[in-house]
Amino acid sequence: MKNKQKLITILLVLLLIMIIFNCQQPTSETTTTTTTINEAIMIIDEVKWFGQSSIRISDKNVNLEQRENIMFFDPINLGKIDESADIIFITHSHPDHLDSTMISKLLKPTTIIVSSEESQCKTILSSITNEKRFVKPGDKIIINNLTIDVVEAYNINKVYHPKESNFVGYIVTIGTKKVYFAGDTDRIPEMKNWAVDIAFVPVSGTYTMTADEAALAIVDMRAKYSIPIHYGMIPGTEENGNSFKQFVGQNSIVVIPPKS
Ligand SMILES: [Zn+2]
Repeated sequence: MKNKQKLITILLVLLLIMIIFNCQQPTSETTTTTTTINEAIMIIDEVKWFGQSSIRISDKNVNLEQRENIMFFDPINLGKIDESADIIFITHSHPDHLDSTMISKLLKPTTIIVSSEESQCKTILSSITNEKRFVKPGDKIIINNLTIDVVEAYNINKVYHPKESNFVGYIVTIGTKKVYFAGDTDRIPEMKNWAVDIAFVPVSGTYTMTADEAALAIVDMRAKYSIPIHYGMIPGTEENGNSFKQFVGQNSIVVIPPKS
């Protein structure tokens, strides 16, 4: 009888130890969060900024099982460039965003161009024979295993980018991360529906949102990392990026890549 009580006590102690040990195991949620942060940083490592909204990113560090996708957004100001693009994204036809000479520098036979469907874009791109996808807000396309959501980009208190022109921004899903590239836009109500991990946003004002408005847009989109673009050229000053960083404060990690 005494032995039986001893056995029950030992079993109870063992059960208690197992419960405590189990509680101390990291949850799968913790593991996922760690992976998520690293993936975002790995994407940011591949960012190059050529001034204005001219950006180069890659999925090289994230998309390990596929071949690398080199992506350029609104390429201008490239100077001497020693690589070609897999995908070129164009948000609208204004000359500081769409320059067919710069696009030509990036082409290889397999380069795909994704562009706003406005007629001006179609005209400017007509001499390029590569595959083209003309898109409008609300479209979703898949290229080389990358999911691309086409989103709105327009002014709400200026005349330069009317909503009815169907200019666009892009949200590209790289690995598990959503990377938002704004195009020329103000802070618009749709942004509250876009939860993104990395956001490239214009900050110069005049034709787009100002640095303080962009900082609020970052909160709307819950962007974990944010990168100011479209400043220091037409229009704006080099200081716009730093102002944006101050306005954002603790709400997001602001990354200002050196100009390439
Ligand atoms: Zn514009």
